[in-house]
Amino acid sequence: MAETIFSKIIRGEIPCHTVYEDDRVLAFLDIFPLSPGHTLVIPKEAAERVDQLSDESAAAIGRVLPRIARAVMQATGATAYNVLVNNGAEAHQAVMHVHFHIIPKIDERGLGIGWKAGKLEASEAEALKKAIVTAL
Ligand code: 5GP
Repeated sequence: MAETIFSKIIRGEIPCHTVYEDDRVLAFLDIFPLSPGHTLVIPKEAAERVDQLSDESAAAIGRVLPRIARAVMQATGATAYNVLVNNGAEAHQAVMHVHFHIIPKIDERGLGIGWKAGKLEASEAEALKKAIVTAL
C-alpha cells in the first residue's frame, strides 16, 4: 500500500489532535470537520479499504468505535451522528488508508447524504444473495 498522510500521523511525524490510542487503533479530530467533533478512527495497520482489513484490526476498531462515538456525542452535545467509511476513490475516498468518520449532526452541520433509492426486485435479490453467500 502506498504511503499516506495517515501513516505519517501514526508515526507521529505529522501532528494531530489525538482523542484515543491503543496498540492497533488511533482516533483524532478531522482537520476539515463537517461539524464540531468530527473524528477519524483508523487502524494502525496499513490497509486501504475495509475489505482489506485484518480480522484483528477490524475487531480492535469495532471494540472502541461505540466508546469513541459516545465520547464525541457527550463532548459536543450532539444527539445524532453518522459513521461513514468511504472505500475507493469513486466512493469519495481521498486518503487511501481505512478511516471511520464519526460525524456529529449539529443543526445543519454534519453529513449531507444523497440517497437515490431503487427497489429490490425478488428475482434480482435471490441471485445477489446467492452470489454474496457463495463469496463469503
Ligand atoms: P475521505 O474523503 O478519504 O473519506 O476523508 C479523508 C478525511 O481526512 C477528510 O475528512 C480530511 O479532512 C481528513 N484529513 C486529510 N488530511 C488530514 C490531516 O493531515 N489531518 C487530519 N486530522 N485530517 C486530515
